[in-house]
Amino acid sequence: MHRVRQTSHSFSSTVTSEDQRLAGQVAIITGGASGIGAAIARLFTRHGARVVIADIQPLLGEKLLKELGPQAKYVECDVRKEEDVQRLVVTAYALENRLDIYHSNAGIMGCVGPIDEIRMDEYDATLVVNLRAAVIGIKHAVRYMKPQRRGSIVISGSVASVLGGMGPHGYKIAKAGLLGLVKSCAAELGPFNIRVNMISPGGVPTPLATFALCALAGRDSGSVTVEDIEKLVSKSQVLPDKVLMDSDVANAALFLASDMRGYVSGHNLILDGGITAAQVLAA
Ligand code: NAD
Repeated sequence: MHRVRQTSHSFSSTVTSEDQRLAGQVAIITGGASGIGAAIARLFTRHGARVVIADIQPLLGEKLLKELGPQAKYVECDVRKEEDVQRLVVTAYALENRLDIYHSNAGIMGCVGPIDEIRMDEYDATLVVNLRAAVIGIKHAVRYMKPQRRGSIVISGSVASVLGGMGPHGYKIAKAGLLGLVKSCAAELGPFNIRVNMISPGGVPTPLATFALCALAGRDSGSVTVEDIEKLVSKSQVLPDKVLMDSDVANAALFLASDMRGYVSGHNLILDGGITAAQVLAA
């Protein structure tokens, strides 16, 4: 099938200052130095936010800062460590004495392989980054959001949490756990005018998708081309001529993070081009 190639982080139009949806707001994006997180950082700065990129890849972070300018800041932060996340939130709040958006996006594919061979240390490590870190982030972000009686929390989930099919087990379990976290936090934090939502994308060509491709196909990363990744991420896809890109996910993040979403809380926005809808019972 012919597919249209899109460039990464291509946003469709320029944003005038009147159209800026996040003007004056402060946003934290974990895992913001690469892939989907970097695309969100780009879009949020274009919409007037001060963006704090939290990651463990300083070279990528500094490169992105050069592109984004003084509106953005990089904070070295390992989301597995509560003291790092606490320092991150304090740093972000100090910029403008406010914290409007916490996007928990850092993630890893983690352990792969059949359940009877799963290494429990690798499984634990997968859940720490993908699930436990989101709990730590929300814990510290809402300490600032509650007194201001305003805030938006967005979590990067995955369509893997709701799709059937084989592993990777740790990743699927962690992303499914995030669904529960979104519900419990949306209920608890709603009275403080803090809304909590999740985005669950299908495959997006990023380093994480490359890792998945190599792990699932037993290939080394040097042998993987952009076309291979696009083929993987568009497998089982319903929409023709389209590969889900990081900029598409960023647009969904903007919708959920900004006041555009108004009344939306406790929601899991599935961005899969219809893959889940196309799952049918065999006749
Ligand atoms: P990516 O590898 O490009 O980006 C992930 C980022 O998280 C990296 O910058 C990495 O350094 C950072 N990170 C990892 N561990 C960290 C830690 N301990 N502390 C701080 N930062 C850490 O991958 P991506 O595809 O952009 O993934 C972003 C999110 O989107 C993840 O949560 C992922 O599960 C989710 N997601 C991705 C896809 C996809 O196909 N790419 C699909 C669905 C969901």
